[in-house]
Amino acid sequence: MKIGAAVVDRVEEQTFPASLHAITQDEELLDRRVGSLPPGFWDRASGKFQFSCHSWLLRVDGLVVVVDPCTGNGRRLGQAPVFDDLDTPYLERLAEAGAPAEKVNLVFSTHLHHDHCGWNVRLDKGRWVPTFPNAVYLFTKEEYRRWDPANPSRNPNTFNPNVFDQCVRPVVAAGQARVVAPPYQISSSLTIEPAAGHTTGHAMLRLVSEGVRAYFTGDAFHHPVQFARPELHLPGCDDLAVATETRRSLVKRLQEESAFVLPAHFPSPHYGRLGLDDSEVCFLPGGAP
Ligand SMILES: [Zn+2]
Repeated sequence: MKIGAAVVDRVEEQTFPASLHAITQDEELLDRRVGSLPPGFWDRASGKFQFSCHSWLLRVDGLVVVVDPCTGNGRRLGQAPVFDDLDTPYLERLAEAGAPAEKVNLVFSTHLHHDHCGWNVRLDKGRWVPTFPNAVYLFTKEEYRRWDPANPSRNPNTFNPNVFDQCVRPVVAAGQARVVAPPYQISSSLTIEPAAGHTTGHAMLRLVSEGVRAYFTGDAFHHPVQFARPELHLPGCDDLAVATETRRSLVKRLQEESAFVLPAHFPSPHYGRLGLDDSEVCFLPGGAP
């Protein structure tokens, strides 16, 4: 689709059912806020929703930008089988959308969970090398520090192991990494802004073009029920209080600006805007810019 002068494509890696009940079991709320959304947002029988792993591909200001390059092939994390030993035609799909790896100028990960930076690299003769040979990879300072094993004050946990060594270090070694502090303006239309909480340095990308506004929000939201109830969350946040506050202020902003929200994991149609229904915030899926 076009958002102002920007051409925006979605490049899918995979989809799988995930527990909506892990976010909320309030059936009344789900009925009210999710009941009329397209079927991928809630399967009543199983209590699951269709979790999509995709990247957003942007062409604007003469740039070819990949946002959140998914999990990648041939990686074994041993945390959830659904992410292990993938063999998907993600790079072929990217090429079909008009962005073969060598054409990509910029790669931005909203955060450094493996499903947002895995394709930073690919295996080449047993070594991880940058997938996008001509790209600058943008990392936010806080998030880089959050995962850097050399940082003694980082938040260590067993979740998301080896992400720095596998998905960041090879990019740094190739001289393709740029560490920036948001707000950071990339070009006339694109700005990286902070959106912390899900991870310490989680950020988002704002696109403003020809008066249309859109936010690529990564994992600030996993499901539209969070627009009505920003305190709801999928387990696994670095800082739940900060994540909730980020969601609250984003909901306000998305409404005030009539902006599009393009999260990293929403099922089809994968994006939308916010509205009000009986003075409760609701999700309006899809829509033309
Ligand atoms: Zn994610």
